[in-house]
Amino acid sequence: MDCCETNDELIPLENAWAQLDQMFSSVVASHKVPLLDALDCILASSVTSPISLPPFDNSAMDGYAFAHESLSKEQGGRLRLVSERLSAGTTPQTPLGIGEVVRIFTGAPLPPGADTVAMQEHCTATDSTVTVPTNIECGTNCRLSGSDIKEGSQVLGHGRRLRPQDLAMAAAMGFDSLEVYRPLRVAVLSTGNELHEPGSRLIDGGIFDANRYALLSLLRWLGCTPIDKGIIRDDLHSITEALREAAEGADVVISSGGMSVGEEDHVKPAITSLGKLAFWRINIKPGKPVGIGEILGKPFIGLPGNPVSAVVTFNLLARPALLRLAGCDDTMPVSFQVKSGFEHSCKGSRREFMRGRLITSSDGNATVEKFRTESSGVLSSLVETDGLIDLGETKEVNIGDLVSFMPFGMLR
Ligand code: AMP
Ligand code: MG
Repeated sequence: MDCCETNDELIPLENAWAQLDQMFSSVVASHKVPLLDALDCILASSVTSPISLPPFDNSAMDGYAFAHESLSKEQGGRLRLVSERLSAGTTPQTPLGIGEVVRIFTGAPLPPGADTVAMQEHCTATDSTVTVPTNIECGTNCRLSGSDIKEGSQVLGHGRRLRPQDLAMAAAMGFDSLEVYRPLRVAVLSTGNELHEPGSRLIDGGIFDANRYALLSLLRWLGCTPIDKGIIRDDLHSITEALREAAEGADVVISSGGMSVGEEDHVKPAITSLGKLAFWRINIKPGKPVGIGEILGKPFIGLPGNPVSAVVTFNLLARPALLRLAGCDDTMPVSFQVKSGFEHSCKGSRREFMRGRLITSSDGNATVEKFRTESSGVLSSLVETDGLIDLGETKEVNIGDLVSFMPFGMLR
């Protein structure tokens, strides 16, 4: 056992996160893009609304609009129907008087004088009158100007990753383009003489490269531009040259495999010759050998070779680092508490991230089941589950205990 095998030397995850926050900030320039191209991009300047939403008072229902005050003046809610008919996109021509009611449809502007809308289903209409419910509250079914967004208020903040609903909001405010950061270009390479390209013939002792396909697609999920640098042979020279070339053509370099200190692990020495590691080996399971640093002035993230470890460490460490470098403010993985459907006792002192599947128990609540094995070599543990169970400092879990759960779908 070398000196680094003791847990004292493993960095707690929280410390690694704090260090990432210190080390990295946005490295990409911004540009203006058409609204639809901004999906999944990170907003480079905050957006303030030039208008109020809704821009005018309008009806939330098909029905009849009137002044609430009319109900205290007219017996039994029977009001005089005016001839105007207000549908969405029209402009009211005449103010509504006390005792009067006007036909109105969803989205149509309220005429001056009206402050309440009764649903058509609750009214009785004749050719000249409409009887509205007398117990209706003032303001019912009215959407007032600015009730959603006030003119001049900041609606979308700098550093936000844009979701479809954010684009809808930008459109509602009248923007046809947004200032976003250019996507982070991330080079990905796999190391290992045993690795073969899917689609090729598998030879004895060989396996297909799975990690690059996970990492390249995880990067797409994050809105980065992945650059595929392929499989690199396991020798110091090949790895050093591949890392150099990767760093020259990308904003960030990610590798998988070869991060331990065995005779066949050449990534760490290659990094030392091209740059430096800021930290190495985190106190998590799976995924202890993760290195983060820089090569030729570009951020570098070295992930372990086991596919499960590579994916878990990507999500826990590379993801927050990449989001920061890409200009995003909200970088931490989201987790929530779910009832455990399993028992577990941790054997080591590392913080465990087991793979878990959500099931709905008979009482309708979500329960998480752990995968049958914690082995970091079993790729089906990622395929057959919904997310990561974070046991934090807990070492014993019983059925019914609350555990933290990070859904894969929220690591996008
Ligand atoms: P390493 O970290 O290089 O010692 O690799 C640890 C384990 O992960 C070994 O069994 C490797 O064969 C496997 N491995 C490494 N890289 C990949 C990859 N890109 N795809 C699938 N398995 C890998
Ligand atoms: Mg290897």
